[in-house]
Amino acid sequence: MTDKLSEFGLIAKYFVPLATHPGALALSDDAAVLKAEADHDLVMTADALTAGVHFLPDDPPNLIASKALRVNLSDLAAKGAEPVGYLLALALPQSIDDAWLAEFARGLGEDQKTFGVSLLGGDTTATPGPLTIAITAIGRVPHGTMIRRSGAKLGDHVYVSGTIGDAGAGLAILQGKVAREPDAAFLIGRYRQPTPRVSLGPKLRGFANASLDVSDGLIADLGHIAETSHVRIVVEAEAIPRSDALKSFDPDIVRAATAGDDYEIAFTASSPIPAGLPVTRIGRVEAGQGVVLLDGQGQEIAVPKAGFTHF
Ligand code: ADP
Ligand code: MG
Repeated sequence: MTDKLSEFGLIAKYFVPLATHPGALALSDDAAVLKAEADHDLVMTADALTAGVHFLPDDPPNLIASKALRVNLSDLAAKGAEPVGYLLALALPQSIDDAWLAEFARGLGEDQKTFGVSLLGGDTTATPGPLTIAITAIGRVPHGTMIRRSGAKLGDHVYVSGTIGDAGAGLAILQGKVAREPDAAFLIGRYRQPTPRVSLGPKLRGFANASLDVSDGLIADLGHIAETSHVRIVVEAEAIPRSDALKSFDPDIVRAATAGDDYEIAFTASSPIPAGLPVTRIGRVEAGQGVVLLDGQGQEIAVPKAGFTHF
């Protein structure tokens, strides 16, 4: 790093102010300590983001920070958990300077207020490689109520929050495909700064039989529910909720249903579900295996690649 705070200087300046939870001990100790609650379970998840893979190195640092936190909060929400806090491990290349860190910390601070979480601890190292941000998020649920992938039941309906495919289109635009304003701004925003369904997630406890967050592509992620639940999931293509911006940029439903980075919640439930939830019914659970996408005539639509994979 250039012009530089020491490791401890940067922790004191940028991260101690974010450690608002009393258990974080203002980052003054080797570890944070959380009170174990007799009637709750802790839910834990980690996601690492690497420059050039999950974001572009010159993306705004506040949005990189926000995305790193939000993708973790999305996992907690999909499990029905309320977020508590997070640990932050940073591998910083030489090019990261004070101004970058200030913006990065600002992005975290704003999201901490929005979602009611605190930084609990972490680690900071230098790296000869690309910038990497690893966050471990901790949430809580009443004992035994975390919603798993494996609970889908025959006859369940399948639901998804928000709209699908926006972020994939946003990435395509960043990579040079052209959309008209203001659609481009909306779609790019959905890629750079997803909206984790933090308030929806806990409301799913008690009636969602299986749930996950859609990060690699709707079809691919529903495939995880199908596999772990030993069922087949049938999705009605025309029911998949899409934004007007996406429909005007790219009406292709298969691309929408297989693009990554949505960070919506997909879940199954026996009907009826509580009124007023911001979700759309997109299909059903049957006997069998895998995920099939049907058109308006009930014909199967070929899906060459269900979603994103790293390897
Ligand atoms: P250790 O030597 O045990 O790795 P450090 O000296 O790295 O501990 O960290 C000192 C304190 O600062 C610890 O409380 C740690 O959790 C915190 N910390 C270090 N890096 C970060 C970070 N990126 N975000 C939040 N807390 C951090
Ligand atoms: Mg350390």
